[in-house]
Amino acid sequence: MGRRKLVVGNWKMNGLRAQLGEVEAIGRAAGEHPAVEVGLCVPATLIEPARAVAGAAFIGAQDCHGARSGAHTGCLSAEMVREAGAGWVIVGHSERRTDQHESSADVAAKALAAREAGLKVILCLGESLDTRDGGKALDFVLEQLARSLPEGAGADWLSIAYEPIWAIGTGRIPTMEQIEEMHGAIRGALREALGADAADGVRILYGGSVNAGNAADIFALPDVDGGLVGGASLKAESFAPIIAAA
Ligand code: PGA
Repeated sequence: MGRRKLVVGNWKMNGLRAQLGEVEAIGRAAGEHPAVEVGLCVPATLIEPARAVAGAAFIGAQDCHGARSGAHTGCLSAEMVREAGAGWVIVGHSERRTDQHESSADVAAKALAAREAGLKVILCLGESLDTRDGGKALDFVLEQLARSLPEGAGADWLSIAYEPIWAIGTGRIPTMEQIEEMHGAIRGALREALGADAADGVRILYGGSVNAGNAADIFALPDVDGGLVGGASLKAESFAPIIAAA
């Protein structure tokens, strides 16, 4: 389909200015692989300084509020993270769905607010281990997609990340068949929701314990258009081989 591979690091609540050297090194690695679109979603406090040293890598945020402004102490609007220098934002990460009790409706609102502010969006989906073991992973993720998908979704601004919760930070990944099946199902649902042309341009990333050893196999699967990488994105040493694998 000619979708450009997308590899994005999610630094979560990690990273002080002392780590800007890693951002710079990752930016250099991105520059060595221009066929791959590379980004780092850093803590909001690092967006501006990271942007200054990130070279070929884009800088993104890890969340934004679904409202434009108002009485939401401690929160950041999409326009704020955009002004700080973010070009992208992650919405609906499972850690936020769990820790901050974000619903799929909240996630859809965040995605829309982000788009209005001119941000590109990575919308995360994923099932728990109980749901997977109960044989309900496909149903669960497709339902989550249907409820989280913002109005006017299009490949020019929206990407999806499938991140099984039980694979995040655990070193455990689904089988290649399970990843292929899920990504194919997400593509099918997007075709129904958006029409084939739009859906076929949307990049669907896999996330959860991606590392230098498994990235090439995962990225070679049909309908896997790259990865969302947590722990292994914190250092250029471990992230660069994943970029190269794409
Ligand atoms: P992980 O995290 O690569 O450390 O498993 C992925 C994520 O949560 O985005």
